[in-house]
Amino acid sequence: MQLSDDIVYLKGVGPQRAKVLAAELGVRTVGDLLEHIPYRYIDRSVMATVAGLTEEQYVVLKGQVANLQTTATGKFRERLTCDFHDGTGTLQLVWFAGTKWVRERLKPNVTYLIMGKPSLYNGQWQLSHPELEPATATVDSRQPYLPVYNTTEKMKSAGLGTRALARITETLVALLPALPETLPDPILQHFRLMPRREAYINIHYPTSPQALEQARTRLKFEELFFLQLDYQYAHQQRVTASQGRVFSRVGEHFNQFYSQKIPFPLTGAQKRVIREVHDDMRSGRQMNRLVQGDVGSGKTLVALMCMLLALDNGCQACLMAPTEILAQQHFATFQRMLEGMPVEVALLTGSLRAAQKRKTKQRLAEGEVQILIGTHALIEDDVEFHDLGLVVIDEQHRFGVQQRSRLWTKSAVPPHVLVMTATPIPRTLAMTVYGDLDCSVIDELPPGRQPVRTYHRLEGNRLRVFHFLKEQIDAGRQAYIVYPLIEESEKTDLKNLLDGLEMVHSYFPRPQYQTSMVHGRLTAEEKESEMQRFKRGETHIMVATTVIEVGVDVPNATVMVIENAERFGLSQLHQLRGRVGRGGGQSYCILMTKDNLASNSRERIRTMCATSDGFQIAEADLRLRGPGDIQGLQQSGILDLRLADIVDDEPLVRATRDTVRDLLAADPTLSRYPMLQQHIARSKNKMLWGKIS
Ligand code: ADP
Ligand code: MG
Repeated sequence: MQLSDDIVYLKGVGPQRAKVLAAELGVRTVGDLLEHIPYRYIDRSVMATVAGLTEEQYVVLKGQVANLQTTATGKFRERLTCDFHDGTGTLQLVWFAGTKWVRERLKPNVTYLIMGKPSLYNGQWQLSHPELEPATATVDSRQPYLPVYNTTEKMKSAGLGTRALARITETLVALLPALPETLPDPILQHFRLMPRREAYINIHYPTSPQALEQARTRLKFEELFFLQLDYQYAHQQRVTASQGRVFSRVGEHFNQFYSQKIPFPLTGAQKRVIREVHDDMRSGRQMNRLVQGDVGSGKTLVALMCMLLALDNGCQACLMAPTEILAQQHFATFQRMLEGMPVEVALLTGSLRAAQKRKTKQRLAEGEVQILIGTHALIEDDVEFHDLGLVVIDEQHRFGVQQRSRLWTKSAVPPHVLVMTATPIPRTLAMTVYGDLDCSVIDELPPGRQPVRTYHRLEGNRLRVFHFLKEQIDAGRQAYIVYPLIEESEKTDLKNLLDGLEMVHSYFPRPQYQTSMVHGRLTAEEKESEMQRFKRGETHIMVATTVIEVGVDVPNATVMVIENAERFGLSQLHQLRGRVGRGGGQSYCILMTKDNLASNSRERIRTMCATSDGFQIAEADLRLRGPGDIQGLQQSGILDLRLADIVDDEPLVRATRDTVRDLLAADPTLSRYPMLQQHIARSKNKMLWGKIS
């Protein structure tokens, strides 16, 4: 038998089931089936008893059958039932199909093992279509563990329940040919990894808990190792092969800004990141750098100064923001900061009038516009740059990989790319998925920031919460009250918001207290004017849906109340909280929720109250949501891990990352490892995306 053999020839499969396996699991060859790994195991030495059944869960029972009865349930249909005794109690077994076959085989006075998930029916335990086999002594001792596989309804009706599948994999494992090793010998030895063949046998039919653990470790290691190899190899290729513009000059734009215009001294972290970016941009290779900085760490200023470096070297730069409001805000900030300097800044967003857009595009193509700020309108086909040298992408999590890739087509020599995110990528994830990106971290907040105090409050506390708000406002501060946006129904969202506003007005009577309101139904101008009133201090409370989520900057606002906080994701809550604590003194974030929270929501709220460290929050987020959820990864299929868990297996992630790094450092072309070279050749096609993120 070979791994490439068609599954149809394996004992117990046949054409019918082969078709189902291909359709349902994508399993076509023997090797595919080997990769269909059990998601758990039943320990047959731990026998349940009928008397001990308490909840509906998968169990193994041992006993005998009696009282076989068939009842007609239709012209050609019948139901077969029998009693199953195990000495502690009786359970009813039921079959609705294939009854003839079962009836002919079930024998009294034979001891059976039955497996399945019993359910309580009219006070009696019942088990329909149990997995069943004679309990011969040999079965028990030879293989205590039975694999349990994911199966689908279609598979079950084709006679491919988890037990049937287990019988097939049992044959497979018994016939398993020698498997070529995929990992270099020294690595196997150093980490004492189980040989590949043994690992596959044990992952299906473990001989002991220890063997199972070793098998798992071996296969996870392999999975993570090749992931690392792909990314790090791609990274190395980029470093050695890809051309970049050389921005060696630090010129008039940068210097004038730094000596005359800069509104405050840079933090140490900001300086370091600007230096890292500058080093990249003059190295001769194309920069692909991710800057992570918690909300409020001052990424905009870093972006601006890096863009001035591009200008000093005769190039244009652009800044791409995820929303109109943010693009407008950046545009205003840039104009303000660059006032009096000979720098042409322009804004390009979807809502501009056609004539305005045309004009801006023309000035851009002629090189008259030096800094372009915009939304995804920037990546439309008809936007042409004169000579684009640097692209800054703000709040990266909202941009898909594909969108980013389009920027590459905007310039003959690929521009340098700087991605800024306030949603820190958990370290383990960064190590795997972003293994080929260079990372900078702004790990220092501007001086004078106090951590935001965060509290969890229930509806019953509302009066006290509003009372507190009043105190703050009377002391000259401003506050946000944020409502969740449920995309299913804009109408309901608006109603929630308006109800909320009414309640706010009843506690905060006008004209003494003024409110602004921002929501998705407003036009860009309306939003902007509401924002401005709040910014100028004309209104005390900003009632909003999450449109204010990212980037908005009003230092005097020191209280953030988040309504129905349980409906928000962790990173969203963290972003929202980042709107306060921006320099106006002690700030507060109050998370309002209903009484009975699901455990996941409770955990999110707890995390928010416990920490303001973006990294910790990102890791908790990953843990609570699972990596499959992380935006952009799913759509691009990057994080396709079958076995390893990006959070729980951090030690393995580290070990494989370091191993691959050392391997490539010692032997960049992998000349000593033909099998790794082959792997690289195979996965090259899949890696195209690596160039663009
Ligand atoms: P974010 O990293 O969240 O994008 P911003 O760039 O919006 O943060 O900066 C947050 C606030 O901190 C802004 O008001 C900005 O003017 C201010 N800021 C940025 N850098 C410094 C600094 N070095 N010292 C003091 N304040 C700063
Ligand atoms: Mg920002």
